[in-house]
Amino acid sequence: MSELKREKKYCACCPCCGNLLQKSVVANTELRCSKCSSELVVLVENGIVTVFESRRDTEETREKFKRRSAAYANEIALMCKSKKAAAGCES
Ligand SMILES: [Zn+2]
Repeated sequence: MSELKREKKYCACCPCCGNLLQKSVVANTELRCSKCSSELVVLVENGIVTVFESRRDTEETREKFKRRSAAYANEIALMCKSKKAAAGCES
């Protein structure tokens, strides 16, 4: 009788220091990294996680980051699932 509906959550990591910022299904958030204090924007849409420094928030950077992030997205999602995203973001 227990039908667990688990939505995939995506990990957003700081592009500067690799700190895990948040896990979410959908996000459009501005936040400050607790580790390195970078001002960041986190976008999660259509399974693609995008994190970038908000001071570089131009359309061009957005697109670049999106393309790069798209490549990571699946891997990161898997990581979150299997390891609960312990420390997968070390650089
Ligand atoms: Zn950081």
